[in-house]
Amino acid sequence: MNYKTLAEKALRGEIPSREECRKVLAVPREQLLDLLAAAYMVRKAHFDNRVLLHMILNAKSGLCTEDCSYCSQSAVSSAAIDSYPVLDEESMVEGAVKAKEARAIRYCIVASGQAPGSKELDRFCRAVTRIKSAVDISICTSLGFLDASAARALKEAGVDRYNHNLNTSRRYYGDICTTHSYQERLETLRNARDAGLELCCGALFGMGETEDDITDLCFSLRELNPASIPVNFFHPVPGTPLEEVRYLTPLKCLAILCLVRFINPATEIRVAGGREHHLRMLQPLSLYPANSLFVSGYLTTPGQSPQEAWQMVSDMGFEVVQEVSGETAVRY
Ligand code: SF4
Repeated sequence: MNYKTLAEKALRGEIPSREECRKVLAVPREQLLDLLAAAYMVRKAHFDNRVLLHMILNAKSGLCTEDCSYCSQSAVSSAAIDSYPVLDEESMVEGAVKAKEARAIRYCIVASGQAPGSKELDRFCRAVTRIKSAVDISICTSLGFLDASAARALKEAGVDRYNHNLNTSRRYYGDICTTHSYQERLETLRNARDAGLELCCGALFGMGETEDDITDLCFSLRELNPASIPVNFFHPVPGTPLEEVRYLTPLKCLAILCLVRFINPATEIRVAGGREHHLRMLQPLSLYPANSLFVSGYLTTPGQSPQEAWQMVSDMGFEVVQEVSGETAVRY
């Protein structure tokens, strides 16, 4: 297959056909570099060699009533994780300072649970306002479902972006969660957007979905047009219902990232959870389709340190961007 044709289509704003998507996902090993080169053409046209780093704070862990079968914090998980209520404001401010030191452009405050309670929401809002007055960093929050007034409160407090992932296709959603629906997730995204928040909406691959589900999700994300797409690869944690699902390979992960790029050419694409676990020694190659990374781990799993990420970015000839405008790249 001529992958360059897909890059040219993406640069013209055209979408790949279903057949082309299937071929990308089934890329033979000997054609991987051709596929990555094509995805890089698209990434370079929109983002040059810039890389955005993000850092997560798990601001409330476990104690969730939902049954998302991939999640170690769910009501149906017996995973050995830390459980704690919402952190105090000071800890959230300290986390922002650490994120800035890690050269992160964005600090992601994440809380487990179906939706924030009113006291929890007030605490997040106060913390965000304090961070905004003390640290020059963009803030994304991921707090579960939001109604319109909660979304407005976050926006008024200074939140820049809201994360709420679709995770999988509409068709497959009911197989991974029964306590809420795909449609409810879309409603939260709409409330966030209506309040003026940028959207971060991503995927979690490797949960037993088909290749058509992968493609459907990529097209749904294109339709939604979020500012960023975090691409997570399911990292099985013992004690979660999906702990036995293990079929991702480094090759498959890279093919998925390329497909996400061809279908969402101008969107920030982040290699997110599961990067270290699934891509292993091929992690640097993920920078050809993707332009964004998490550093310092995830919610309940560890990850690459900032120093290792800076080194990887630099060794690949890419640049970490620290200014929110994205216009000033800093070489390290
Ligand atoms: S993904 Fe979120 S809503 Fe679902 S079980 Fe985990 S913490 Fe709860």
